[in-house]
Amino acid sequence: MNPFANAQTQLTKAARLMQLDQSIFEKLKKPNNIIQVSLPLKMDNGHTTVFEGYRVQYNNARGPYKGGLRYHPKTNLNEVKALAFWMAIKCAVVDIPLGGGKGGITVDPKKLSAREIEELTRIFTRKLSNYIGPDKDIPAPDVYTNPQIMSWIVDEYSKIKGHTVLGVVTGKPIELGGSQGRTEATGLGGFYILEDLVHKLKLNKKKTTVAVQGFGNVGYYIADLLHKAGYKIVALSDSKGGIYNKNGLDMDPRNVMATKEKEGKIGACYCVGTVCDCDNYKQITNEQLLKLDVDILIPAALESAINEKNAGKVKAKVIVEMSNGGITPEAETKLLKKGKLIAPDVLANAGGVVVSYFEWVQNLQNYYWPLAEVEGKLKKIMVDSFKQVWQIKDKYNTDLRTAAFVLALSRIEKAIKLRE
Ligand code: NAD
Repeated sequence: MNPFANAQTQLTKAARLMQLDQSIFEKLKKPNNIIQVSLPLKMDNGHTTVFEGYRVQYNNARGPYKGGLRYHPKTNLNEVKALAFWMAIKCAVVDIPLGGGKGGITVDPKKLSAREIEELTRIFTRKLSNYIGPDKDIPAPDVYTNPQIMSWIVDEYSKIKGHTVLGVVTGKPIELGGSQGRTEATGLGGFYILEDLVHKLKLNKKKTTVAVQGFGNVGYYIADLLHKAGYKIVALSDSKGGIYNKNGLDMDPRNVMATKEKEGKIGACYCVGTVCDCDNYKQITNEQLLKLDVDILIPAALESAINEKNAGKVKAKVIVEMSNGGITPEAETKLLKKGKLIAPDVLANAGGVVVSYFEWVQNLQNYYWPLAEVEGKLKKIMVDSFKQVWQIKDKYNTDLRTAAFVLALSRIEKAIKLRE
C-alpha cells in the first residue's frame, strides 16, 4: 500500500473533473518541503538507538502548515507525504486559513518507557525548531501521540525561543493553552457529518446499526456520541481485535472503554478473567468487523483498512471514513459501483483540525472560549461544509470525496493565483 500514490489518484480525478489549471496541478503533486531527521536516543539500558523522524510541509498558500505528528512502527515518508497532502485539502474543505503538513517518527511507542518517549520528543523538537512555530507550521497529536507529548514540545520549543510559545502546537492540555472540546472534536465533527447523511437518506437512527474499527481518540468519541444519540453500536475493535454484539443490541462504548483501560484490550469485554459474556458478545477480527451486515461502517484506525481485497465484501450502505486514507481509491471505485455512500476523511474527520484552529486562535489572542462556544462554532463549520460539498456532488454528478477535493482545490487555486 502506498498512501501517497492513493492521494495522487484522488488529486488527479478531481483535477480532471474541474479542469484544474495545469500549473496548479503540477505544484500540488509535490510537497513544498520535506524535513527528514535522525533522532539518536539514549535508551534506558544505556545503548543508543537512532530513530527516523519526518515533517512534510505540503502547501501553505492559505496559511501556516498544519497537521499532526504520528509515532508508529510503520510510519514512513510516503505515508507522511500523503497525510500532509490530505491536511492541505482538509483545511481548504472546511475553509480555515491553514495549509497542510504532517510529521512522524518510525517508532513503536508501546516499546519505549515514558522517559524514552519524552526524550525522543524533545530531540525531535530541537531538530524541527527552525521549521515549526505559530506562524510557520503547527503540529498536533495523531496516532499514538497525545496532549502530554504536545506539552513536551511546547516546553522544549519555548526553551529554545526563550519565552513560552503556546501556539507552536495544538491538542495541548487545557491547563497549558489547550482548547475546550479539542479532545472529542474529531469524533464530534464526524458525528455532525453522519447525522447530515442520515437525514439526507431519511434513516431511522434508532434502527441504524453501526460498526466502528479503531477504538482510540476518534473511534471512541464518535461511538460514544452515536450511542448517546440513539444509534445502535453493534461492533467495536482495536489493534488487538474486536467485539460484536451478535444479538444486534446496542453496546455502551463507555463500558467497553472502562474494560479496555482495565484489561488492556477490547476483547476483554468478551472474557474478563475467566468469566465470558458469550450471550452478548462474540469476538471478531478487524477484517470480520469490516464485512459485517451493518448500516454504517466507520473505519477509525489506520489508512488502507478498506482496500481492493476486502471492498467487495463490505455490506454497509454508508461508510464514514474517520481515519485518514481509510479507503484506497481501488476500494472506493468498487464501493461506489455498488451504490455505497462514502463520507470522505477530508470532510468527516475535519472536526479535529477545526478545533485545533480554534485553539491556535485562542493562543494568539490569549483569550479562551467556553465549551459551548467551541461546539457551536464547530457545528456551523461542519454543517456548512457538508452542504457545500453536497452541492458540488450534485453539480458535477460525482462522489462526495471528489466533490470535497473540487471545493478544496478551487480554494487553494485562488489563493495561489492571488499571490502570483
Ligand atoms: P489513536 O492512537 O488514539 O487510536 C488508534 C486506534 O486504532 C487504537 O484504538 C488502536 O488500537 C487502533 N488500531 C491500530 N491499528 C489497528 C488495526 N490494524 N485495526 C484496528 N484498530 C487498530 O489514534 P486516533 O487519534 O484515534 O486516530 C485514528 C485515525 O484518525 C488516524 O487515521 C488519524 O490520522 C485520524 N485522525 C485523527 C484525528 C485526531 O484528532 N486524533 C484527527 C483527524 C484524523
